[in-house]
Amino acid sequence: MSPTADPPRWLCEVTEQPVGERACLACARERRQPACPFNPALLRALAAADEPDAVLTGLHQTGYPVLRVSSLTGCVRKAWYSLRSERKLETPGEHWARLRGTIFHHALERMGDGHVERRLVAFLYDADVAAFITGRIDGYDPEQGTLHDYKTTRRLPTRVSDHHRRQVELYAWLLTRNDFPLPTAIRILYISMAKVKSFDVPVPSPDQLDALEAELLDQIRRLLHVEPPEAIPREPWECKYCTYTACPSHPGQAGEPLADGD
Ligand code: SF4
Repeated sequence: MSPTADPPRWLCEVTEQPVGERACLACARERRQPACPFNPALLRALAAADEPDAVLTGLHQTGYPVLRVSSLTGCVRKAWYSLRSERKLETPGEHWARLRGTIFHHALERMGDGHVERRLVAFLYDADVAAFITGRIDGYDPEQGTLHDYKTTRRLPTRVSDHHRRQVELYAWLLTRNDFPLPTAIRILYISMAKVKSFDVPVPSPDQLDALEAELLDQIRRLLHVEPPEAIPREPWECKYCTYTACPSHPGQAGEPLADGD
């Protein structure tokens, strides 16, 4: 088999060497690595959850930058690095938390009442910059006007983080840019293995959405600039979990980090 027929999909859970999906599935079927905890069913589901959808693939083919909502809620410098980096390969175990969320969303789509995931796209531009902004909205009911976002988590939070609040505000903005009315209510539901906890989030006003759009344009400008933005995270905890060690605020750097950490 030529190497291009089975390009590296992730790092082997046991050897941590790059491995293609087919080779990984064959290995799991024959249990060549007894220390590997995954079976072919879980590995195939992990791979399927990671595949880009057709809309995203099409957007990338236009040549314009494609910015996901998830990259616009946190540190701008981190998103700047991410736009310019090759995607790092991870082990299946590192994908696992994301698959848990995907399984939950699929189950809700099959069994829940009126739960429909939809990908929304807006093309945002001014005289200097242009980019597609896209996000997959968990649950929007056009009749009720409600927007619900689900988060699978290990620990239930005591409040909605700024990160999550900004995410649902961006979803509200995407809805209005796709000719849907502004939601009448926004709710974030946190789901652990044992409990569910939900928070209502204030619906942004049209003026707040205009301000958000102006801020997005500024963010796109900073993301597309050749020089990186300032090394200041949106929330202090971000540096602790950041993988971009070249950043002067990264805790692994010599000297005083700019961020507090938590
Ligand atoms: S280390 Fe902190 S400031 Fe630097 S890119 Fe990462 S999150 Fe942003």
